[in-house]
Amino acid sequence: MDALEIASQRAREWLAQRNTRPIPPRASFDSLTAAFADLPAGPTDPATVLDLLAETAEPGLMGMNSGRFYGWVIGGVHPAALGADWLTSAWDQNTALRAVTPATAALEAVAGDWLLDLLGLPSRSAVGFVTGATMANFTGLAAGRHQVLADRGWDLAADGLIGAPPLRVLVGAERHDTIDLALRYLGLGRPTAVAADEQGRIRVDALTEALDRAGDRPVIVCLQAGNLHSGAFDDFGPAIELAHSRGAWVHVDGAFGLWAAASPALRHLTAGVAAADSLATDAHKTLNVPYDCGVAIVTRPEALRTAMGVRAAYMINAADAAGPPDPVEVTPEFSRRARGVPVWAVLRSLGRDGVAELVDGLVANARALAEGIGALPGVEILNDVAFTQVCFAMADDDATHALTDQLVTSGTVWMSGSRWRGRAVTRISVSNWATNADDVAASIETVRAAVQGT
Ligand SMILES: *Cc1c(COP(=O)(O)O)cnc(C)c1O
Repeated sequence: MDALEIASQRAREWLAQRNTRPIPPRASFDSLTAAFADLPAGPTDPATVLDLLAETAEPGLMGMNSGRFYGWVIGGVHPAALGADWLTSAWDQNTALRAVTPATAALEAVAGDWLLDLLGLPSRSAVGFVTGATMANFTGLAAGRHQVLADRGWDLAADGLIGAPPLRVLVGAERHDTIDLALRYLGLGRPTAVAADEQGRIRVDALTEALDRAGDRPVIVCLQAGNLHSGAFDDFGPAIELAHSRGAWVHVDGAFGLWAAASPALRHLTAGVAAADSLATDAHKTLNVPYDCGVAIVTRPEALRTAMGVRAAYMINAADAAGPPDPVEVTPEFSRRARGVPVWAVLRSLGRDGVAELVDGLVANARALAEGIGALPGVEILNDVAFTQVCFAMADDDATHALTDQLVTSGTVWMSGSRWRGRAVTRISVSNWATNADDVAASIETVRAAVQGT
């Protein structure tokens, strides 16, 4: 077999173990680094290297593709997306310019249009395929930083941040940490936290006060679709209207939650979100494409093009600067992988109804888990399970820590610990298309046994 046949066979074997393999890795980082460390002086046949790679890595792989892996918000791998990802690597198209790589640029353009349609966002929006929601947040916030300063007559591209009117960024108290990270990249420092309610939603009355305090400074407001702990959605209609009435740019972090908009049954959770100026989401979470793929959406595309665009004599930029942008104009990267191709493939495979069913299925599984686990003695479900996230706890933090430890070492499920609302919690995030009723039943049974053991 040649190297690619070996890769294909090994990949199939890995995927086939999804239901049977214990979830945690058996080998440690240290033993694996030692096993990989030998750099020979001479060449080795690629097929031999692929065998060695798969054989050595396999014990150290985390079963993130298991239907019973509920850590962080990881997603799964849909076969159409995985196959398309393989082709994307084989094609090796540096997808920066439409004229140079028309096939992959066209696939990304169509995938972008489909996303806007499915998520109910303005069709004029610019869509950039980036590495994840962190960079999607960065991209949207960069466009906002440019625009709110331009509104004050400051040319950020020419003059930079030093000496610019002081910009204030207002965020919900329970925003994701990567908002702070993106703001750090952007030189905007620590944001101002606005109080959140008991589900982690930004309080619109507190936002009003924060905007009052910001006075006539340039302001960016960050909202959230999908709280990491509760799954809750900010109240977009009133919050965006309020922020816009004060001239603020509104960015929405919808890494996994924005996908509620693709489901007729869940769309109400995102009501009003289409009025945002920029939005971030991930395809590698809810949409189940392989890592990595995030999506930056900017409903005021001129701001993004001014912030990110680059045109140079040696490039072959789109001839019509007013037409649809080249990928290089809407993403922070210059050279780039065609990350949108797996997105096109999974959307083409699922279809409009299939996307809604995917999201509805994740939520139905989260609710079934919450119901089953919430019925166990001594277990309390802490959040309203409106979307894919479930937080639960035992009577005290020590018992919750002990429970989380038992679950992680069980090998059958992976539910990780966190702190929320002043308590230790065990957290479930349902984000894999492959999670099914058997997985849900087996997971509840594992928690039941662990609760009895603590
Ligand atoms: C995962 C996540 C992010 C960060 O996304 P990456 O894809 O890891 O860069 C941001 N916000 C929320 C709400 C998330 O769940």
